[in-house]
Amino acid sequence: MTETYLFDPPAQPALALVGEAPKFPVRRIFCVGRNYAAHAAEMGNEVDREAPFYFTKSAHTVCPSGSEIAYPAGTRDCHYEMEFVVALGGDLFQAEGTEGMEAVLGYGCGIDLTRRDLQGQAKEKRRPWDLGKDFEDAAILGPITRRDAFGEIADQRLKLFMDDREMQSATLDEMVWSVPEILSHLSRFYRLTAGDLIMTGTPAGVGPVHPGARLEGRIDGLEPVQVTIANA
Ligand code: MN
Repeated sequence: MTETYLFDPPAQPALALVGEAPKFPVRRIFCVGRNYAAHAAEMGNEVDREAPFYFTKSAHTVCPSGSEIAYPAGTRDCHYEMEFVVALGGDLFQAEGTEGMEAVLGYGCGIDLTRRDLQGQAKEKRRPWDLGKDFEDAAILGPITRRDAFGEIADQRLKLFMDDREMQSATLDEMVWSVPEILSHLSRFYRLTAGDLIMTGTPAGVGPVHPGARLEGRIDGLEPVQVTIANA
């Protein structure tokens, strides 16, 4: 018997794959907090070297690169955070060492849009970060490049430009927790599967976006991610 629904289920969020027709269907989005020491410092925090920590965004926050989006509701301090994104193409549970890399399909550029004022209030009141992090168009994601085409994660440079001005610049080897370490740690708590994405954290230089802003994030060897914030 075919299932029927009261109303149309939402479209499957998906990302383009560089040079391939099939799209990458997004399942979950895990985000790593404080994964660059200089960014942790600019936010008045220290890196917790005991273990990484995470927050999540719904797959329905995905906004494909090239979009124009409305300035997010309920905030007066929406920030860009440029990040290296890991896309899983296989299952992963309790990965040891570098085992997790076998499940990596590829990588992309992503912007973790953040309602900084709401995140700040949540931190102050020891409440969850959802209002600050998990909202429509909050995960702006570029096309995925296959792992083999990208090669080893090393000193590739990540940059964020707003209105053609460079705002963030760092290399991937500045990450506190490497991708294999994140995969090993995260897979102790989740049965990760194909379709899961991991946004690996942002370096220093985060800041507010304004209506009319054009954001472009680049990482050596990957397709850029672009978004425009509509004029109010
Ligand atoms: Mn982030």
